Amino acid sequence: MSATDPNCIFCKIAEGTIPSKKVYEDDDILAFHDINPWAPVHFLLIPKRHITSMAHVEEGDAPVLGKMMTLVPKLAQQEGCLPYPDGGFRLVTNTGRAGGQEVQHLHFHVIGGPRPWLKG
Ligand code: AMP
Ligand code: ZN
Repeated sequence: MSATDPNCIFCKIAEGTIPSKKVYEDDDILAFHDINPWAPVHFLLIPKRHITSMAHVEEGDAPVLGKMMTLVPKLAQQEGCLPYPDGGFRLVTNTGRAGGQEVQHLHFHVIGGPRPWLKG
């Protein structure tokens, strides 16, 4: 699979050709605010390399996925989620049509903040 899919909106966000409100960035990973938030905190965490979905993850992706998982709690607190256990957040990864995935570039939704939320 190539590093970038020219038709993929999240690849374009990762390249910077489509703007985003960034939460975090390094060489491999980008986090940015969801354009249509369900909750006071709602950002997306993506690998910059194009991986279509969780159904496409391979063994070689483990380091970047591991790094993403360790970033989730740090970025959630940075963006305003209160600490565990009274606070917390929801981590969602829709996968495929049955999973309700609309953008075909792997992304983790991090959702939180004071309720009510629009969904969930
Ligand atoms: P999913 O249904 O899991 O594929 O979620 C895709 C998410 O991407 C939705 O929550 C959208 O609001 C969000 N989204 C789509 N386009 C953009 C964009 N240009 N910038 C930020 N978020 C976006
Ligand atoms: Zn992509």
